[in-house]
Amino acid sequence: MINLAKPEIWFICGSQHLYGPGPLKQVADNAQKIAEGLAKSSRLPLKTVFKALLTTPDEIAKLCLEANSDANCAGLILWMHTFSPSKMWIRGLNVLQKPFVHLHTQFNAELPWDTIDMDFMNLNQSAHGDREAGFIHTRMRLARKVVVGHWSDPEVHDRLGAWMRAARAWHDWQGARIARFGDNMRQVAVTEGDKVSAEMTFGFATNGYGVGDLVAEIKKVSDAAAAKLVSAYEAEYSVAPELRKGGKRHDSLIDGAKIELGLRAFLEAGGFKGYTDTFEDLHGIKQLPGVASQRLMADGYGFGAEGDWKTAALVRAMKVMGEGLPGGTSFMEDYTYHLPAGGGQVLGAHMLEICPSIAKGKPTLEIHPLGIGGKEDPVRLVFDAAAGPALNASLIDLGNRFRLVVNEIKVVEHPKLPKLPVARALWECKPDHKTGCAAWILAGGAHHSGFSYSVTTEMLEDFATIAGIELALIGPDTRISSFKQDLRANEVYYHLSHGFRA
Ligand code: MN
Repeated sequence: MINLAKPEIWFICGSQHLYGPGPLKQVADNAQKIAEGLAKSSRLPLKTVFKALLTTPDEIAKLCLEANSDANCAGLILWMHTFSPSKMWIRGLNVLQKPFVHLHTQFNAELPWDTIDMDFMNLNQSAHGDREAGFIHTRMRLARKVVVGHWSDPEVHDRLGAWMRAARAWHDWQGARIARFGDNMRQVAVTEGDKVSAEMTFGFATNGYGVGDLVAEIKKVSDAAAAKLVSAYEAEYSVAPELRKGGKRHDSLIDGAKIELGLRAFLEAGGFKGYTDTFEDLHGIKQLPGVASQRLMADGYGFGAEGDWKTAALVRAMKVMGEGLPGGTSFMEDYTYHLPAGGGQVLGAHMLEICPSIAKGKPTLEIHPLGIGGKEDPVRLVFDAAAGPALNASLIDLGNRFRLVVNEIKVVEHPKLPKLPVARALWECKPDHKTGCAAWILAGGAHHSGFSYSVTTEMLEDFATIAGIELALIGPDTRISSFKQDLRANEVYYHLSHGFRA
């Protein structure tokens, strides 16, 4: 994936000096073993590094400041092997800006019934040490995940793994740059938002760039470079005969390749992680970027169409979360419904820009007219998406805060669609079509989304927790009456908790 760092997770153990140097040495050794065990787990995407055994307020504050300033630290795992009186933690936790997870584990797995004595009890006392830590986290209103279980348990690794993926995406967003070519598609509301508030809340910056700057990059692309990319297209996709060398529309494919190379050069030069464009502002570009946006997404760029910079950033974050897992992630749009009696399915697509990471089989590279935008016909990849469990996520700006709306879905097979000239996915919403769509609409979810097979609800929940934003989850257990009540309660909670700083 382009522009992706592999940060570390710091493992921090808390204790105190009540127990003397012998037990503390044992505590540090045990913590080191746990960190090493986590570092070896293939279920965990980031390396866990044992950083410190902390026993005083000064050590704790110093460590938290170090974590803040270390660009390679994506988050902290906190664990209280013994009792670590939590007033010691207030000063450090007050300044800590990195995400943390509270791992409620114990070094020893099974009780040694015949030999257990007070030394054993004192060494393995996270059962109450971690409760003392939990109190101060809650008292300080700190957002965190709590993972419970023995540190060797694969299920514990999966919970930590989901959190690490969220923490990695959060780390990736800090200082990230999203390029916006042109403004919003006129009069569309949901793609708008407060870019200042977004940078304050999320850490990524969205700034506008003249489409002329992009045109200048496209003009710089040589015929030789375009021909080389066209050869790569022919190797990777089933290219329509009219687009192949000697075909009557081969020039359109060359234009498409030049758009990709120009766009790529612009994004690389600016160190961007995502971008948005709009078909209403493409002055000087021959076609709406189709295959270009599709392939850039496949390389890890976040994308949102029609000025939708929030979805561009979200798609990037989701690609980072899902990194290395089976199944892809794409920009998506709810397009049209299949509504037989008693059922309901969503056919998702876009004018062009669906990422081939979600393709079932080899995409075809085709050219068809586009009824809007007044440009030449764009080249695009056409494919079906694979069947299987997936989800849609939408990040909206409610004026006083952001909300992340998530709907778990099931992607299903569909009949051939010989006349549909775009990539597509057919899915069923959970818990059912009527409830799922009603909840999404009540929550204000956009028609645009980040669509993913690899990202899970748990990762997005952890991500929303780290970001401190509302999550509206629509899943198998959703009921409209309680969902509406949750939205009402969240209106009050987030209004009070964010106050004027929205
Ligand atoms: Mn759209």
